[in-house]
Amino acid sequence: LLEAFSRESKLEALTLDGHKVNIYCNIGNFEELRILDEYGCEGVGLFRVEFAYMQRSSPPTEEELYELFSKAAQILGEKPLTVRAPDIGGDKPIPFIELPNEANPQLGLRGVRLLFKYEDLLLVPLVRALLRASVHGKLRLMLPMVSTVDEVLYFQEVVERERKNLESSGVRTGRLELGVMIETPSAALLANDLIERGGLSFISFGTNDLTQYVLAADRGNSLVSYLYDELNPSVLRLISLAAKRAKGRAEIEVCGEVASKPLAIPLLIGLGVESLSVSPQFVGKVKYIIRRVTLSKIKGEVENIIEVAKTNIDIKKWSEALLRSSG
Ligand code: PEP
Ligand code: MG
Repeated sequence: LLEAFSRESKLEALTLDGHKVNIYCNIGNFEELRILDEYGCEGVGLFRVEFAYMQRSSPPTEEELYELFSKAAQILGEKPLTVRAPDIGGDKPIPFIELPNEANPQLGLRGVRLLFKYEDLLLVPLVRALLRASVHGKLRLMLPMVSTVDEVLYFQEVVERERKNLESSGVRTGRLELGVMIETPSAALLANDLIERGGLSFISFGTNDLTQYVLAADRGNSLVSYLYDELNPSVLRLISLAAKRAKGRAEIEVCGEVASKPLAIPLLIGLGVESLSVSPQFVGKVKYIIRRVTLSKIKGEVENIIEVAKTNIDIKKWSEALLRSSG
C-alpha cells in the first residue's frame, strides 16, 4: 500500500467523477519547502512561521521576513504559499513577550488577539514583508484564532494601510491574498460575513483548535482526550454549515490534522471542502483516497450521515464501509 501511495503522490487528486481537490502541505520551517515537489504538494496551505520567532530575543525584522518569503516564493514558483501569522499565546509561548498568567490561556490572549495587541512588533513587519515579497510569487496571509467580523475588518485595514505606506515611499507591492483560519465556533458561524467584510480569498478550518472549542475539551489535556474527536457529529455539522456559507465566495480548505485521516477525507470533501493541507509525508495517502471516491455519489450521503449519526462511531462506520467498497 505504501508503494501505491508513493506512486500516486505525483498524480492529480481527482475523484472518480473528475472533481479536483487541491492538496497543499503544512510546513514548520524553511527547509521543508525544498522537498514539496518530491512529495507531490501543490503548494503550502499552512506555513507555521512561529519557528522564525522562537529562540530569539527580538522578533524577526521586516527585512529578515522579506528575505525568507522572497526565497520561499522563488522555490515555489506558481504554487501558493500560505503564511499563517504567528500563532502565539495559549500553549505557544515566545521569549520576547511576557505573556500574562491567565486562568484560561486557550480562551485568552492568543492568535489574532495577541497579534493586534503587539501590532507593531508582530503584525506590521510581517504584513509589509509579505506585500513586498508577493511581487515574486503567489503569497497568502492567514490569521489564526479569529472570532469576530471586527477582527477581519481591522486585518484588512492594516494590510491596506501598509500597502499605501510602502507604495507612497516608492516600494512595489504585489497581490497578497487574505484568509483566516476557522478555529472557533463563532468564526464558523460567521464564515460568510468574515469572507465578505474582510475581502477574504480563502478560509481554512483549523480543526485541531476547532474541535477543542466545539467540544470544550482542551486539546492538550489527557483527562478529557476521550471527548476530543474531530469526527464528532457536532464538529462535522459546524464544518458543514460554515462550508455552505462560504461556498462560491472563497476557497474552502482544511489544514488541521484531520485532513490526513483516511476516514475523514470522504466526509470533508463531501461537505464541500475544496483543498486539504497535510504534512508532506501524507500527500500520497490523501491522493490515493480521493482518487477512489465518487464525489457526486457521496455528497448527499455525507450530509445525511452527519445529521442522523448520534456518535463518532456511526460516522466512522459509514466511512469505513465506503473505503472498503472502493478498494
Ligand atoms: C489547527 O488548529 O487545526 C491548526 C492547524 O493550527 P495549530 O495546530 O498550529 O494550532
Ligand atoms: Mg490552531
